Parts: sequence; structure tokens; C-alpha cells
Amino acid sequence: MKKGLNILFIASEAVPFAKTGGLADVAGALPKALSGLGHNVKVIMPRYYAIDRTALEHLPGPLGVSMGPMGTLWAGLYKNVIPGSGVEVFFIDYEAFFGRSGLYADEDGFSYEDNDNRFIFLTKAAFEVAKKIDFSPDIIHCNDWHTALAPLLLKTRYSFDGLFKDTVSVLTIHNLQHQGHFFKGAVDVAEVGWEHFNPHELEAMDGMNFLKGGIAAADAVTTVSRKYAAQIQTPEYGFGLDGHIRAHSHKLYGIVNGVDYSEWNPATDGYIAANYDIDDISGKVECKRELQERFGLPQRDEVPLIGFVGRFVEQKGIGIIAAAIEKLAHLDAQFVMLGSGEKWAEGFFSDIAARYSGNFRCHVGYSEELAHKIEAGSDLFLMPSLFEPCGLNQIYSLRYGTLPIVRATGGLDDTIHNYNQATGEGNGFKFYDATPDALYATVKWACDTYRYDKDAYAAMQKRAMEARFDWKQSAEAYEDIYLNTYYSKLAARHR
Ligand code: ADP
Repeated sequence: MKKGLNILFIASEAVPFAKTGGLADVAGALPKALSGLGHNVKVIMPRYYAIDRTALEHLPGPLGVSMGPMGTLWAGLYKNVIPGSGVEVFFIDYEAFFGRSGLYADEDGFSYEDNDNRFIFLTKAAFEVAKKIDFSPDIIHCNDWHTALAPLLLKTRYSFDGLFKDTVSVLTIHNLQHQGHFFKGAVDVAEVGWEHFNPHELEAMDGMNFLKGGIAAADAVTTVSRKYAAQIQTPEYGFGLDGHIRAHSHKLYGIVNGVDYSEWNPATDGYIAANYDIDDISGKVECKRELQERFGLPQRDEVPLIGFVGRFVEQKGIGIIAAAIEKLAHLDAQFVMLGSGEKWAEGFFSDIAARYSGNFRCHVGYSEELAHKIEAGSDLFLMPSLFEPCGLNQIYSLRYGTLPIVRATGGLDDTIHNYNQATGEGNGFKFYDATPDALYATVKWACDTYRYDKDAYAAMQKRAMEARFDWKQSAEAYEDIYLNTYYSKLAARHR
């Protein structure tokens, strides 16, 4: 059996170079973990304006990328490695596409109109990089709509090249809400052939849907939790693609993301007031006091302190928090929110903080430091998402002994086990209905447990802190899928 696989990993963002969301965390960590298992991984991503060219190695010779009616466009190529690993990252440099302030949208949140061309360019460039460096991939792993055309490009344009003749493709869906839906003229730019513009492949409502085409063409499709893999096959969570995904469910897998414990560990965290761990949790109360002070809340040890960190978008359940806010604000509990996003929410929560300044505070903005302080200093962590492919904050919370209160959906449902008052089992609190009443009742239940059932709370806290979601575990699950897919395709070819 094959040992070290050659893996070409294509993503529109990767930590630490460019990040707007969870995709970047995965694209930075998974290749590293796969490399740790003995695989040879090359990452391909754009050289965005914000990525400093002078910190990268310049590779000689331009890279020609065929763009249909636009002709061949010539890109520059740069190289670096993922810090702490030997994994090479290749940056596609093309000023007219990637030399902008945003990754996908301008400062006002409007998507760039040529996103179809930009990401067709990136995806094709990935194949051209492989050719240039003479890298014959066993696996092409693409991510989300941006690079979802890779499987179809492999089939229609590249598998004839000896370098790609045994290559199989894996597509990971990090969030089904964004599918890359464009004017159908993009078929010409992609040069995949109009015969693939049909309702079973690329076509959706007379437009071209990148993700739909990717799901059809990929040899395997994965998403970032088992529950989400099941949910995206239903109309409620399928964003119009549930039928299409059901038709391909034989090759669909759910693998929960890992987290980076070198960054999220209360024993070593440099952002927090005092370090602590499962054997001695006493530092946590110092973190709580500092958090209260930092946010201008009364320093009370006995009051339950509930944290929230996340994008202020509907997906994260901010609408239900807003609808429950008056009742929540009258609980004897403290709330600390950190986030930014939709303007109404930024205004609304700041306003509530002004009205209930004794127990409700909100910081609008992005702050790595405050995120760590909230994880460490809170007793409970609120994540009432309407849908959640995986979710990271609830996993960080477990490690910090901060019990999550979550809506039972996607990765939240997979990683959090509801408190069972009869047996004492569980590592958090769950509710099912996306309603303000369900949210309020569960927050109250969690607060009561914290206050009046201290032994049960402490036992859950211990269990939470013991749980591990290592990238190695997740990388092994990807490895299984790679090998399975690779050998099934090989076998099919020889049948
Ligand atoms: P998503 O990718 O949907 O935004 P995840 O829970 O998977 O949600 O990951 C979000 C990541 O971004 C977490 O690491 C979280 O701590 C971080 N984050 C989100 N908003 C903020 C913020 N305002 N300040 C600091 N970190 C944030």
C-alpha cells in the first residue's frame, strides 16, 4: 500500500497568511498534520495584497493560465512554508485579481463582480504549479466553492496529462451557504465544456454553480462534522442543494475539525491573567475577575458569567439572542459579547450594554486577546447557531473548562453532550428549537446548575477539559478517505 501520498491542497485562504473564517484554520492546520503522518503536501493559495511579497521566496518564470476568451494570463509565483512545518505554500500572484483590500468583497461587503474569474484562475493555476514543479499528485484536495471546480477541471482538462493520470479529487465543504453562483458565461472561462452545464452538474437556475459542479465531479466529498454531513441532505440545511447532495451521498463523509492546542490551552495561554489546568483550576477565578474588570462589570465570583465570541451574522443565532435579551438581562448573570458584523447587531448589543451596564457588556471588533480572555474568564459560553458546520469556539471552551450552551446543530451537536441531571453525564447544555424561549430556558438551567449544583458543574468541567480534538485524529480520518478513494478508483480502472 502507498505510504506518503502526494497531496495538492488548494484553498482561497490559509492561516497564518490570510483568514476570514474557519476555512483558513483548516487550510493552515490540516496540511501540517498530514505532513506529520508522512504525506507530501503542497498548498496553493492567492498572493493577496495583504501578504507581503518580500517575506516570500520568488520563483523564476511566469505561470501561464489559460482563461478561455480572456486568453492566457501570466501570473507570478512565490513560495513560503507553513510555520513549524516543512509544508510548502505556493502563492499565485496576479495583481489584477488578488491585489485588492478584501479577499472576496470590498470594504462595504459587496462581493467582487469578477469572483468567478478570480477563482477559476486560482484553481487552474494550481494545476499549472504542479506541472511547473513536476509534482504528480495522488490527491487534489479542494475547499469550498472557490476551488470546487478542480475535480471537473481534473476530469475534463488535466487527467490526460501523465502527471495527473492517477489523481483523485476530494472536495471539502466548510459552509454550504456559499456556493459560488455566477453567470453561465463562466463555463467558457473555465473551459470545462458546455456538456457539463446541465442540472446534474454545473447548472442551477440557468447560472453556473461552482460547488454543485464540484460535488458532482469529486471522487469524495467531505464536510466538517458528521451531523452537518447528514443535515446538508435536508431541505432545512441544504440551501437548495440537498437533493443534489443526497444523489451523491455515497461519497459524502463528515470529519470534525481539530483545534490548535498550542494556541488554545489555559496552561500556556499568554493572554490570560493566570494559567490553569485540569489538575489545578484555581487560576480560572483570577481570569474571571480580570475579565469582569476589563469589561467594567462588578467583580463577583459567585455570579455566572456567560461569554459569546463570533461573527455577528444570523448564522450565529444573534437574532435569537436579541429576541431573548430582555429576559436574559433580568437573570442574575453577567454577559460579555465580542464580535462584529451586521450593523443592526453591533448597534443593538452596544445599546443593550448601555442600558444594562451592570450585567451586560459588548465589545464590537475583532480581538484575539479578548477572545482568549473570554474563553478563560467565563463560566459558560453561548453558541446558539442556526446552523454550524463545525464550530471552533465550543471546542476551545471545553479546553478552558467553560461549559458551552449550544443549539444542537451540526458540529455543536457532535462535540457537546447534554447535561443529564439523572446521571451527571455531559459536558455542556443543549437546546433544540431555534427560539428565544428555548435559549432562555437553557441559559437559566445552566446558570442554576452553576449556582446550585456545584458538584455536578465541577464534574462536567473536568470532563470538558479532558476532551481532545487533535488535528492528528482528523488528519487520520482524511488519510483513510484519501487511500480509500485512491484505491477504489485504481481498482475501477483495472476492472
Ligand atoms: P466561523 O468560521 O463560522 O466564523 P468558527 O467557530 O468555526 O466560526 O471560527 C471562528 C473563529 O474566529 C474562532 O477562532 C473565533 O474565536 C474567531 N473569532 C470570531 N469573531 C471574533 C472576534 N470578534 N474577535 C476575535 N476572534 C473572533
